[in-house]
Amino acid sequence: MTFIARQESFTCEHCGKDVAPLPRGTYRNHCPHCLYSKHIDAEGPGDRASDCGGLMTPVSLDQSGKKGWMIVHRCFLCGKEISNRAAPDDDLTSFAEHN
Ligand SMILES: [Zn+2]
Ligand SMILES: [Zn+2]
Repeated sequence: MTFIARQESFTCEHCGKDVAPLPRGTYRNHCPHCLYSKHIDAEGPGDRASDCGGLMTPVSLDQSGKKGWMIVHRCFLCGKEISNRAAPDDDLTSFAEHN
């Protein structure tokens, strides 16, 4: 698995907010405001190997040991699930609003 650290801002396709890149090289692949993601990775965060492009809904939240919070995203289009590490500035309280 190859990790590609891309630092770029994007506009969230779910809530429409502008999302700035994280400082210090941490990879961000989901919106910190509504926690939605986009299906661009095939097997792991940052590989960008998928051409699906579907919106990914946050379906569950897990706190797994020293990794901290993990957000499980499910693709709206193809149903694939990928877990992602939550960013320090993620608004985890917004998860409850979707479920
Ligand atoms: Zn959003
Ligand atoms: Zn997909």
